[in-house]
Amino acid sequence: MANSREVELVIVGAGVAGCTAAIYAKRYGVDVVILDKGVPGGQLMTVSLVENYPGFPEGISGMELAQRVHQQVEKHGIELVQEEATGIKRHDDGRWLVQTSDGEWLTVAVIIATGASRRPLRVPGAQKLRGRGVSYCATCDGFLFRDETVAVVGGGNTAVEDALYLADICEKVYLIHRRDRLRADPHLAQQVLSRDNVEPVWQTVVGEIAGEEEVEQLKLRDTGTDEEQLLPVSGVFVAIGIIAHTKWLQELLELENGFITTDTNMRTNQPGIYAAGDVRDTVIRQIATAVGDATIAAYSAYQYIAKHRGEAYGEYAGPE
Ligand code: NAP
Repeated sequence: MANSREVELVIVGAGVAGCTAAIYAKRYGVDVVILDKGVPGGQLMTVSLVENYPGFPEGISGMELAQRVHQQVEKHGIELVQEEATGIKRHDDGRWLVQTSDGEWLTVAVIIATGASRRPLRVPGAQKLRGRGVSYCATCDGFLFRDETVAVVGGGNTAVEDALYLADICEKVYLIHRRDRLRADPHLAQQVLSRDNVEPVWQTVVGEIAGEEEVEQLKLRDTGTDEEQLLPVSGVFVAIGIIAHTKWLQELLELENGFITTDTNMRTNQPGIYAAGDVRDTVIRQIATAVGDATIAAYSAYQYIAKHRGEAYGEYAGPE
């Protein structure tokens, strides 16, 4: 029989957005639970050094920041349950039923904070050699390639940050980008292009990742001339954008390129369902914006829940 539980607010995802929303909701007096299918922390766990989040002038490692956020969740007595949310259905009484790997949660409101992850490179060899030279996390796997030659694929902030990180560890880093200029922020682009051991490979795409047991070389194609060349590397780090974790919500929510559409109050097209953080259709995905989204989403959800309880709407002045 399905494990059936009731709560006022289900937050799906224990990254920085989900945890922030939970802390605010708890402080509004909402009965809240966070669901996460894996280890809490989300994408923060893969960031080597966070230098743009206020309050940490020397920077802080993503993992340490994630651990601190988690401690704050625990300190507030918020329940964090390891369960995968698989669907959301409207219950007969107007509440929502969040279906999970372990049963279901009947709830008044839901905040989706499931985040996003890196877009896979779909070329021959990429899947076969994943974990054997093909990586999606420079900060997790970079040390395996100390003093070796590697490539980073992509031209955005992630690719450039990965290349900068790897340049400190590896002998040589090729930055392979399909256009002739980087998409990354100018200050990052400048930094990477001034590194002696980083060589940009412009207007080029990877056609195949070759190797028997491990990555040995990349088959590259010039997008202008169609000329092909082989590039010997022992590792390739893919950073070609991100995809939202919303497959399980496709039938329910309005999405834009897979990201959840919200208004400025983080409301989705379904009443009582909110979204926050990287999973949301937004212009910039940062820790600071995830925290901001989550703060608004928690307030919106609280107002919705207060109305459901029959409390005077808007009576509450703000968080403790
Ligand atoms: P992104 O900004 O979407 O960049 C993806 C890059 O991959 C682009 O350069 C794109 O090329 C290239 N690309 C896409 N599909 C490709 C394919 N099939 N083959 C080859 N290249 C492909 O993604 P991101 O760098 O992961 O960043 C995601 C978001 O997080 C962004 O909003 C970014 O600003 C943010 N972020 C911020 C920071 C920071 O501020 N420190 C750090 C990391 C990420 P084109 O340029 O030709 O489209």
